[in-house]
Amino acid sequence: MSKAPSAAERIRQLQDQINDYNYHYYVLDDPKVPDAEYDRLFRELQELESRHPDLVSPDSPTQRVGATGETTFDEIEHRVPMLSLDNAFSDEELTDFDRRIRDRLKTADGIEYVCEPKLDGLAVSLHYEHGKLTRAATRGDGYTGEDITANIRTIQSIPLKLRGQGYPDLVEVRGEVYMLRDGFEKLNHRLAVRGDKTFVNPRNAAAGSLRQKNPKVTARRPLQFCGYSIAVLDESQLPDKHWDCLRKAKEWGFRINPEMRKAQGVDECLNAYHDLEDKRDKLPYEIDGIVFKVNRLDLQRQLGFISRAPRWAIALKFPAQEELTVVEDVEFQVGRTGAVTPVARLTPVFVGGVTVSNATLHNMDEIERLDVRIGDTVFVRRAGDVIPQVVKVVKEKRPDSARTIECPATCPVCGSDVVRPEGEAVARCTGGLYCPAQLKESIRHYASRRALDIEGLGEKWIDILVDKKMVRTVADLYHLKVEDLRQLERMGEKSANNLVNAIEDSKAPPLGRFLYALGIREVGESTAKSLARHFGTLEAVMEASEEELKTVSDVGPVVAGQIRKFFDQSHNQEIIDELRKAGVAWQSEETDQKRQPLAGQTWVLTGSLSAYSRDEAKERLEALGARVSGSVSSKTSCVVAGEAAGSKLDKARSQEVEIMDESQFVAFLEEQGVA
Ligand code: NAD
Repeated sequence: MSKAPSAAERIRQLQDQINDYNYHYYVLDDPKVPDAEYDRLFRELQELESRHPDLVSPDSPTQRVGATGETTFDEIEHRVPMLSLDNAFSDEELTDFDRRIRDRLKTADGIEYVCEPKLDGLAVSLHYEHGKLTRAATRGDGYTGEDITANIRTIQSIPLKLRGQGYPDLVEVRGEVYMLRDGFEKLNHRLAVRGDKTFVNPRNAAAGSLRQKNPKVTARRPLQFCGYSIAVLDESQLPDKHWDCLRKAKEWGFRINPEMRKAQGVDECLNAYHDLEDKRDKLPYEIDGIVFKVNRLDLQRQLGFISRAPRWAIALKFPAQEELTVVEDVEFQVGRTGAVTPVARLTPVFVGGVTVSNATLHNMDEIERLDVRIGDTVFVRRAGDVIPQVVKVVKEKRPDSARTIECPATCPVCGSDVVRPEGEAVARCTGGLYCPAQLKESIRHYASRRALDIEGLGEKWIDILVDKKMVRTVADLYHLKVEDLRQLERMGEKSANNLVNAIEDSKAPPLGRFLYALGIREVGESTAKSLARHFGTLEAVMEASEEELKTVSDVGPVVAGQIRKFFDQSHNQEIIDELRKAGVAWQSEETDQKRQPLAGQTWVLTGSLSAYSRDEAKERLEALGARVSGSVSSKTSCVVAGEAAGSKLDKARSQEVEIMDESQFVAFLEEQGVA
């Protein structure tokens, strides 16, 4: 067994590790571990150092704020240091903080605190001279920050000029730059679509966005600013309470947090904490705790600072929303539309207030982007009501036994083929009619108004019929009897009769509608109609090769592939057979081939049409049997003259050939059903 490290060794280890984490978090905006893990190590270091004060070195992370490292920005020295905040993690720790304050101030009276949501972003300092924004800086190491003035100027909620009158000549406003949840989701989505690295959480997104070299990039990021302190740097007088200072900031044009409130004594502070915790998920931005500040500025001055934080304030943290855990396995779930979604099975972990043991991995692209493998240690995030997500892999912790994740070739629910069309992120089961996972959706679609229009078969009844196993496929609908339906709660005689009649009435659909009702991916109403018109019978569609399918207007290679896949599944074929046996008789359609009213005619297109391109117009005429020629002669049957038609139109007139303008042409195509 290896020897436990001595206190000195452990302190050194923790210092090195935390310094490394600080660098990744503050300088690269790309944390190596979740905050909760960081906080645990930081606490351990603080405790060890408090037991061994002789081992505390001035460069220990407990003695410093933030992290220094290479930066692309100029340095700015803070006139008043920008410190961190002490953290508390329980009601007791907050009570201890309040006791320490009262001891120092030698008072038994309840202290008045200002309770402010702790916005999860990054601190910035803004300088205003004679009301104009002159410089803006990050916190940096607390003494020297980065000059981010150009980027800060792009944030709309930061006034470039203070409002009103009576502000000091030289004033510093501090506050948090943060990103709304909504903006964060959209930004990450954009980055993911481009294949770029995404941000782990809104805080890192805000920090990364603010520290861009190009202010134009910052300008495109949805950043907000909220003020939380002011300091006067000239002789002017400030109000003597923190709360009133913030009201001043509001008058000058800053956003201050509407959830802020005053509390008398620690019990009211705890109430404020629990109230805000209840609201946390509903706020449009993330907060990671609540900051309590002594309201009276004279008392703040009296209390002063310790190495890295003021004594007069503390942050009481909320439960962490990101934690580390291990991906034990990945399973694939089939959604109601056939989407096959990978779900990570995790070593259970307490995060965002609940124990999480599953997290979605969305799709195969996401797996590739994250480069996640079975056995990996990952950040799992659960913020608000959002389903838990794997947001990052800790590559250093990858074991040799880690396994790559493969998309299954067949559906884990019904065994039909799974396909992932090229360029698409989502893999899908092709057993649309058969797959139990897709059953409710396939019935809903089948019965919908534009498909077989079965009145009265709404989602509610579909749920009940499927859950009670009275319907296992769409074909079972046709075997439902009034007596069976009458057994169902809240199904009266009349409704049962109506439903059975409506199902009966759906037995002779036009082929186009029936094809649409099958719910083949990519086959919408108009494609279904085109297929029906082109092939005439279901058998012909089912037998058509991809090449043949592609000759139908609006059927490209992707759609042709989907149609072929659908009919290749023996399960789907079986259900179509069952439908046939149940008496569903789709009406064959007269095909385009048979219906060629323009057969033998020669048409000429001239000028430009606004509704169709030349090729589209040609295609339609050809579908009706016409030959489309480039020149007008006495044999020409008709000339379609669009905008700015020239010599061909003149020739048509002189030859007394029939002429159609665009609106007549469109009306004609509509009449023929090929518009
Ligand atoms: P902090 O975030 O705990 O508290 C200080 C900060 O709170 C201020 O700088 C300010 O930005 C912010 N704040 C928000 N609302 C405020 C308000 N109303 N009044 C005052 N300040 C307010 O301290 P920190 O020093 O910035 O960072 C330490 C924390 O950062 C750690 O607890 C950890 O969670 C996280 N961290 C994580 C890693 C990592 O690797 N995951 C690394 C370093 C730090």
